[in-house]
Amino acid sequence: METTYPIQFVSLGPGDPELITRKAFRVLREAERIYCPATQCPRLKNREKAGVNSKAMEILRTLEIEERAILPFILPMRKEREAAIAVYDQVRAEALQAQRAGMRVAIVAEGDAGFYSSIHYIYDPLREAGANVARVAGIPAFIAAAEWAGIHVAKQEEELHVIPGTAGLERLESGLATGAQVVLMKLPGCEAAIKACVKAHPEHRYHYFEQVGRPEQFYTDNPAEILARPFPYFSLMIIQPDARGTTVERAALGGT
Ligand code: SAH
Repeated sequence: METTYPIQFVSLGPGDPELITRKAFRVLREAERIYCPATQCPRLKNREKAGVNSKAMEILRTLEIEERAILPFILPMRKEREAAIAVYDQVRAEALQAQRAGMRVAIVAEGDAGFYSSIHYIYDPLREAGANVARVAGIPAFIAAAEWAGIHVAKQEEELHVIPGTAGLERLESGLATGAQVVLMKLPGCEAAIKACVKAHPEHRYHYFEQVGRPEQFYTDNPAEILARPFPYFSLMIIQPDARGTTVERAALGGT
């Protein structure tokens, strides 16, 4: 029989606090410690809460989760993988210690905690070691993006390809040529390839999103606007191959 509470890996959803599950909300309200990813504000050197940037923390605050329970952990720059892993190791050790002391511990992630979430650095070793862990599923950003743009990310027999920042032009072209819809994440890593694809293939439909679910959210499907925009980290794209299908449906509805 388990004698401890599971360490809960809680998905926060894409940013809109209403797009969190009831289960996640309950687990967060019950938690005594909530580890929350953050980055350091560039101009502040202290490690107080006032000096951190954290979208996850903003979601927790909007949901009026107990402030005392929220413990931000500061992640270094995205490229410093080893330093980030050291931070995750430390959070893992602290979380285990708190669990052993009988506390209810949660570790949060934006979107879904099992979809390109780097908290797998904490979750996987714990699970492999047989620790008592649980996960609460959530809505990934691309699903919320599709809702916003009014598109179906996959319908009927369509395939959906998800490519995370590694796409070259050929990879994009070959995926789209099969008729699959493509979701692109971590856009700064493949900005040049995406822009080359937009220029070379005007027949496809490109949906570009930034900061989905947040007040500063932005969406366009205008190729010129996409080409002119530098892609920040919190951006994603959904590409619908060869918009003919859409045109046929519009015609059927009597549109243009
Ligand atoms: N676990 C997250 C994905 C994290 S990987 C999820 O389920 O959605 C980080 C990438 O996800 C970013 O580079 C970006 O491509 C995408 N992303 C996450 N949140 C986003 C948001 N609010 N708006 C746009 N893109 C987002």
